[in-house]
Amino acid sequence: MKKKILLLPGDGIGPEVMDAGERVLSALMEAFKLEIELVHGKIGGAAYDATGEPLPEETIRLALNSHAVLLGAVGGPAWNGVPFEKRPEEGLLKLRKTLSVYANVRPVRLPTRLSHFSPLRTLTSDIHMLIVRELTGGLYFGEPKGRMVEDGEEKARDTLLYSESEIRRIVELAYKLAEKRSGRLVSVDKANVLATSRLWREVAERVHTAYPHVTLHHMLVDAMAMEMVLHPETIDVVVTENMFGDILSDVGGALVGSLGLLPSASLSDHGLHLYEPVHGSAPTIAGRGIANPIGMILSVAMLFEYTLSLQEIAEALWQGVESTLDDGWITADLESFVEHRSHESSRPYRVIGTKEMTERILEATFRQLKRKGVVA
Ligand code: NAD
Repeated sequence: MKKKILLLPGDGIGPEVMDAGERVLSALMEAFKLEIELVHGKIGGAAYDATGEPLPEETIRLALNSHAVLLGAVGGPAWNGVPFEKRPEEGLLKLRKTLSVYANVRPVRLPTRLSHFSPLRTLTSDIHMLIVRELTGGLYFGEPKGRMVEDGEEKARDTLLYSESEIRRIVELAYKLAEKRSGRLVSVDKANVLATSRLWREVAERVHTAYPHVTLHHMLVDAMAMEMVLHPETIDVVVTENMFGDILSDVGGALVGSLGLLPSASLSDHGLHLYEPVHGSAPTIAGRGIANPIGMILSVAMLFEYTLSLQEIAEALWQGVESTLDDGWITADLESFVEHRSHESSRPYRVIGTKEMTERILEATFRQLKRKGVVA
């Protein structure tokens, strides 16, 4: 059966990076004769301008009839004045809810030869971690929440609530991912203070019995923040609740350098997943052809891994990106990172635009695939 992938470019640099994603997808579909149909839809400010809704019914219908959704970015100052519930970002939140994606997976990967992109710069071995963040529960959604006046004083309240089933499904997913990798899982909590964290820890232990080949470690979130900066090379799969994951995944992002390099996947239980670069719509550089397409291209790599189960193609895309950067081809957002290196060594670098970067990554990807004998 033909698989349908819905492409939602969105706003700002969204359409430019989506062009890159579509180019990469189309080239690989053709080379491997993949039975895939690419479908186009609207979301965010672009959808609001066209239909009055940031997530039109038509987009919901297309999404629910797809096997995967690939998204660019939404938002920008052009929609600052629209009613709150019509904001572009509301369209994305509603899409995540519609797809019931509850696990945000962010790979943080940097080979030592690219350590000049990391603010740490002194890496002794590769960074290759996977942060699995619970996305639909915890402090961001718990009720009651809000502002009040009590005893003549202004107060505010948020509620941190997790159920056993919410914890179980994300932890199970993390064990499965760890099983396929190094067999090591770190569950991050604040069990010395929070009741929800103590439940989280207990559930992680209970689920562990079904995954005897995975070693489980618990770590407090404050210790984990330090560990990620001091010894990122030692960390493999990390699972944590919503707010801790929000913060730690940005620490992970910072380890690799620019926002433009980071992909993500938001996974559901029913197999319809959402893939998107971590960055936003970068309105100040939109339309200039200089956006970094790597976050999008690696989101396509994640789609090959999680939706299409074509691990070899996914890995070739990662290596295609890494060897292109290693050859000194960069987009403008990466210039400040490599300037440091150019003083230290005579290796030159060249700043190129979105389209040329995409073509170079594609060429490097096909070189990898040929070397492995996967394509002729
Ligand atoms: P942003 O990620 O758009 O930009 C942050 C900085 O990184 C800017 O300097 C930008 O130029 C740069 N940048 C980001 N992606 C880049 C890329 N691919 N190539 C080169 N440079 C890149 O975040 P922001 O400025 O806080 O938000 C801008 C808009 O995007 C806002 O409307 C915000 O709500 C929205 N947003 C959307 C998403 C999403 O769609 N998932 C995520 C975050 C922010």
